[in-house]
Amino acid sequence: MRIGIYPGSFDPVTLGHLDIIMRATRLVDLLVIGVLKNSSKKALFSAQERVELLERATKGISGVTVESYDGLLVEFARERGASVLVRGLRAVTDFEYELQLAQTNHKLNPFVDTVFLTTSVDYAYLSSSIVREIASYGGDISQFVPAAIIDTIYEKYQNR
Ligand code: ADP
Repeated sequence: MRIGIYPGSFDPVTLGHLDIIMRATRLVDLLVIGVLKNSSKKALFSAQERVELLERATKGISGVTVESYDGLLVEFARERGASVLVRGLRAVTDFEYELQLAQTNHKLNPFVDTVFLTTSVDYAYLSSSIVREIASYGGDISQFVPAAIIDTIYEKYQNR
């Protein structure tokens, strides 16, 4: 069984992420979405909330599980028996960092390879930070995030 890990902050999950998730499920038997707990970035949603949002967004897609992790990604991959790391590439600006990350991870664990899926043109511009920015001003985020999580994002800003 081929197991893949799709790691990220997912703060919150966007339609761009969901597109990568759906395409990645065709490449592996099980896709474990790994929500990074101890990101240096200050997150809007807690790791547990981000896991819940992803679970809601991926309900009905088979072959997907969602978990949070901290520490080294290659260690998490080893624990889950994963041989593939999935990352999305949006623009050339993503490339340098992603290349360094992939090469480092391969050095740390040669049994794991990173596979890059290029973003669909529809979502090339989309990022979690853009969604947060628009939502913080009460703007319309329905084109950017899964319908099942829209209200939760607005609620987060109302309760702050
Ligand atoms: P990170 O903080 O690790 O970059 P993100 O949650 O921002 O985590 O992104 C997780 C992964 O999803 C990364 O590989 C990123 O390049 C990819 N990604 C983010 N937004 C998009 C998008 N709109 N289309 C395709 N891939 C994306």
